[in-house]
Amino acid sequence: MADARAGGLGRAVIFLGPPGAGKGTQAKQIAKHYSVPHLSTGDMFRELVAQDTPLGKRAKPIMDRGDLVPDDIVLEMVAERVSRPDTARGFVLDGFPRTLPQAEKLDEILQARSWGQPLVVHFVVDAAQLVRRLTGRRICSVGGEIYNIYDQPPKVEGRCDNDGGQLIHRADDREEVIVERLAAYREQTRPLVDYYRSQGVLVDVDGMQPPAAVTAKVLEILERGQKAHSSPAPSPAAANQMSQRYER
Ligand SMILES: [Zn+2]
Repeated sequence: MADARAGGLGRAVIFLGPPGAGKGTQAKQIAKHYSVPHLSTGDMFRELVAQDTPLGKRAKPIMDRGDLVPDDIVLEMVAERVSRPDTARGFVLDGFPRTLPQAEKLDEILQARSWGQPLVVHFVVDAAQLVRRLTGRRICSVGGEIYNIYDQPPKVEGRCDNDGGQLIHRADDREEVIVERLAAYREQTRPLVDYYRSQGVLVDVDGMQPPAAVTAKVLEILERGQKAHSSPAPSPAAANQMSQRYER
């Protein structure tokens, strides 16, 4: 088993960050770099429902109603997914865990598979800047191109540069919706961040840098590998500063 785990990522990595921090894109890139699976809960849910397994049959009506999938189903889904052969060289978890009870259960799942502690990459963002980034987003109704009215505006207002398609401001990207989602995220994940930080397995990454710089930073952290375990946690003052930065 140890040999099978050589190369790749060699461990379970969790990407933790708020909506809009670009965490999904980063997870995809990093997983590709190490040739390991990118396990996003969104993809897992879609697969679960499509597969028509007993678990899928339980999840489908809940998801069809738009309700939150209960923890026991999510945990069973994750446990099954990380037991597949393609995860032998490590994997990147994106969107899970979201709560402290889920994190504790995940530890059990990982232990049962003889993984050590996960490495947690925490994307730290400036809330005000994130709101600006998300509220400025416009999506082409024809080709799906993404613009930002502040940072990457189209040449003609409201029109796609490529195909002239109308640019759409999605309901999800309205400021009040975003502020609410960020507040909910913060509330849910703060205990999670504390939990992993106290174990010394969490590394903060400035999620507001350009995507390529974020990728480089994450690669650097992963290459440091085991050393991350022994890196000192930031001082309480620094940690406090970071969360305040997020709360603005
Ligand atoms: Zn377009």
